[in-house]
Amino acid sequence: MNTRSRLPTSSSGEMLCVYCDKLADSKDHAPPRCLMLPPLPSNLVTLPACKACNNGFSFHENIVRALLSTVGNHPHLIEERLPGGWLEKTLDRSPKIRTILDSSRQSDGSYKIADQLFKSFRTVFFKTLQGLFYGLYDKIVPSNQLVLLAIENQRHVKIEEVIDRIRPNPLVDITDEPLSEISAYSWHSREPIFTAELIDPDTGKKSNRVFRLVRETPVEWIRFQPDTFGAAFVKREDGGCACVIDLWKTLIVTIGAPWPGDRGPLRRGKKNPMSRDKKTTDA
Ligand SMILES: [Zn+2]
Repeated sequence: MNTRSRLPTSSSGEMLCVYCDKLADSKDHAPPRCLMLPPLPSNLVTLPACKACNNGFSFHENIVRALLSTVGNHPHLIEERLPGGWLEKTLDRSPKIRTILDSSRQSDGSYKIADQLFKSFRTVFFKTLQGLFYGLYDKIVPSNQLVLLAIENQRHVKIEEVIDRIRPNPLVDITDEPLSEISAYSWHSREPIFTAELIDPDTGKKSNRVFRLVRETPVEWIRFQPDTFGAAFVKREDGGCACVIDLWKTLIVTIGAPWPGDRGPLRRGKKNPMSRDKKTTDA
């Protein structure tokens, strides 16, 4: 497979930066290297980028990284924020990052992800998702088709809850549908049927409804590094998808994106280039 087929090139065939169309003179990695621990996994996606875009990303990546170091529960992050540790050194070196973090700190000690902090998350995770899309589907998704849906702390919400929230309701009302024929051999493929008495909140009128429980396919996680970075693509009711990113078992970043194809993100028969450390979770 020619994985470079869809990357932009100049009329003379030179690689262009995927983010701004100027000549590419460096490589950008997805997921960002600074959001993982050394030794880095060997299955990172690389995209051609210009140095200006790459340097611009570094600033935002450091802000995200500094916030993780401030609030994270991973032993490595806890060590980073000890006096004289990585966090203190980084903030001393970059007063701008310190100001951004300080101004986002709320009275209860939590951080409000708005303004500059939000901008940094959006920048880092949009380009990360563009990289993941390229690595998985061989296509570049324009950033204007992405939406940052949520950034949540795993202290307050479980990742399974986030996935359940995104997925369509598994109960489909089939009361008014014609009954399908049942043969002796079709039972094994039937989905469970439930009945429920519903009460109309306006009229108080009761009615019996029949629901079919649609079996959900398990969410497939792409774990670049088990402790630091995992991503799952979840199909949404509106036909698009949401990419749920598990960041250091600390934050959950959810990004809305177009559904990459009829057969879903992890197509059967096509080798997933990032499947080295893949874990399946039943959400
Ligand atoms: Zn560029």
